[in-house]
Amino acid sequence: MGFGDKLRDAVDKVKNSMHVDNNLVKEVIKEIQRALISSDVNIKLVLTISKEIEEKAFEKLPTGLTRKEHLVKTFYDILLKYIGGEEENKLPENPKTILLCGLFGSGKTTSASKLAKFYKKRGFKVGVICADTYRPAAYDQLKQLCEKVDCLFYGEPDEKIAYKVVENGLKDLHEKSANLIIVDSAGRSALDDELTKEIKKIYSVFNADYSFLVISADIGQAVKDQAEAFNKSIGVNGVIITKLDGSAKGGGALTACYIIKSPIYFIGVGEKIDDLEEFNADRYLSRIMGYGDLSSLLEKVKEISNEENLKELEGIDPTQLMKGNITFAVFKKQLDFTNKLGPFSKVLGFLGVGNKLDDGQKKIGETKIKKFRVILSSLTKKELNNEPGFLNRSRIKRISNGSGTKYEEVKELISYIKKMRKMFKRMGSNGINNMARQLKTSGLDNMSMDPSNMDMSKLKDLSKKIKFK
Ligand code: GDP
Ligand code: MG
Repeated sequence: MGFGDKLRDAVDKVKNSMHVDNNLVKEVIKEIQRALISSDVNIKLVLTISKEIEEKAFEKLPTGLTRKEHLVKTFYDILLKYIGGEEENKLPENPKTILLCGLFGSGKTTSASKLAKFYKKRGFKVGVICADTYRPAAYDQLKQLCEKVDCLFYGEPDEKIAYKVVENGLKDLHEKSANLIIVDSAGRSALDDELTKEIKKIYSVFNADYSFLVISADIGQAVKDQAEAFNKSIGVNGVIITKLDGSAKGGGALTACYIIKSPIYFIGVGEKIDDLEEFNADRYLSRIMGYGDLSSLLEKVKEISNEENLKELEGIDPTQLMKGNITFAVFKKQLDFTNKLGPFSKVLGFLGVGNKLDDGQKKIGETKIKKFRVILSSLTKKELNNEPGFLNRSRIKRISNGSGTKYEEVKELISYIKKMRKMFKRMGSNGINNMARQLKTSGLDNMSMDPSNMDMSKLKDLSKKIKFK
């Protein structure tokens, strides 16, 4: 169970309760404590948070809120504060140089390429320098990633002195008219003298606008010590927390940054090049608590729509999807769509429904997706535009023969789509409006994120723009 699941359980408890009384508040606080402790949040902070919730739970009700709504909102607000929601970390608008540092395996090299992609999409001509002269494979790893991103790359596989590579790289990349240069540095297993010296030297040669410390979420609250150590010896502007996707200790990592006032600028949420998000505490928390995060989904959709392959996206109609009107064709379009956005479970997470699926439903693996695609390519137009029940035995036989797949595999696709339809329908006959209603009853519509108005309409607009032909 990750950080998000635990928080969601506590919120659900409030939502499903009849009355909010002393006992319920105590029970919820206990759950919150358990959730926070098991995601490695500092114990003192856990106590502070629970005390604040307790104090606020029974204060005078703001107009228009029920006691229950007030309790959920309090919970949300307080957590938000402690993962850095009070200050907005203004993302560097026009960075010219970014230095990444951190220990071994923290995700620097991966983040360097993710950042390159992030800024490339925003119109920068990005160049990346491999200043990891310590690990022999570092050069190839980064070079390959940069090829994927299709950005400039500079490295010297045989040079052992990191700052020299940076010096030469700056010259080379400027000549190639790069306007943003990212340096990926070498890590060590600890911040020792050698690493400090090396990074300081790189920093002075490079003159970084921003130096980001890259830390993996799986060290939990130990993020605090690491960030403090780096900050003291070399000075960092902010933090990139990686591996938030897989870590049960995410809560510890995030709150640790709050404690030492280290702004989190980006979070890594997967291994792929696109799995980098600008960190926004509000958005992040609303998502992991299961309220959906349409704004970041829409942002991503917008980015993708800007790319050349808009064609592939034509046809996805989120409103239809949310109503459970899923034909084979809609499903097929969705497979193409999710391919661009990342794993299916993540897309559902953005929509706030990921937690409503069981693991089996979520884990529609890459190989299965490939198989589904092959099957779908054997469907006639009429079949594509029909509901899953339309495929009878003889049709299934023909399709499995035609696509070279097994009868059971076609059945599996059918049952998968059926499950999806049910799942979306369960959210209400009214799909999106129902989701908005759910937000209202949860009390979260009173908050700044309020996806129930703005984002829903944006979502509808979007669905008009990329309509099914
Ligand atoms: P470095 O030693 O700091 O350069 O770390 P790397 O960039 O080589 O990353 C180490 C490992 O962590 C690699 O296997 C990456 O794929 C993985 N990794 C990095 N960032 C993330 C992330 O955000 N999520 C997940 N799941 N894995 C990540
Ligand atoms: Mg590396």
